[in-house]
Amino acid sequence: MLRTDRLDAYYGLFQALFSFSFQVFPGETVALIGSNGAGKSTLLRSIVGSVRTRRDGVVLDDQPVGGESERKQLSRGIALVPEGRRLFASLTVLENLQLAARNGRAGAWTIDRLMREFPVMQAFQHRPATALSGGQQQLVALSRALVCNPAYLLCDEISLGLSPVAVNEVYDLLGRARNDGLAVVLVEQNVKRALAESDRYYCIQKGKVVLEGASESADHAQVAQAYFGI
Ligand code: ATP
Repeated sequence: MLRTDRLDAYYGLFQALFSFSFQVFPGETVALIGSNGAGKSTLLRSIVGSVRTRRDGVVLDDQPVGGESERKQLSRGIALVPEGRRLFASLTVLENLQLAARNGRAGAWTIDRLMREFPVMQAFQHRPATALSGGQQQLVALSRALVCNPAYLLCDEISLGLSPVAVNEVYDLLGRARNDGLAVVLVEQNVKRALAESDRYYCIQKGKVVLEGASESADHAQVAQAYFGI
């Protein structure tokens, strides 16, 4: 199980998360819901070590793993798909995947498998990653995390700015990963979609959990209230 335990996170003197406790079990999908600036990305970044945190604030299978580098977390099976994708523009699609695979773990998700499942990615494998459409780039960004064979996949706004068709393609790939038993933490602006794609949700406001529960039985009016802080 991956969890945070009363996690505080800071940017300089500014506190972005306050005693934030959350958990995700193997194979589960958890959605983080909240308005801009609520702290969703900060939570994901804290888990992979790009925001400084207490060592015992992030716990993986009862071991404190906070404050470790992103590479170290990858080797432990925690991968982040960052907001804005952040593919290496000077590298081809294939090189982006190869570079990532070196830092990850061996497993069912190989570059060959991803290329087979996504003929478009195979066709464009020697093009610079950023020459692809937004939707295709997002598939590459997800693939880059999957080739590391994580047990926990942290997805930050993977559907932002994509066409409806591309959004469905991205969620289709995520669905295949979930079928393979991956746990997913999903930050998604589209609340309806976030609830539809997840088992449980946490509503975050100003760095604190204000509501949590099972997504299937979520009261949408209550979630909207928590989201807008009314
Ligand atoms: P968004 O949808 O806008 O990404 P979010 O819920 O992911 O929202 P965060 O990006 O986690 O929000 O931001 C939480 C708080 O931390 C906000 O007040 C934001 O201004 C602040 N913050 C985020 N990144 C930094 C940074 N690099 N330096 C200083 N403050 C930051």
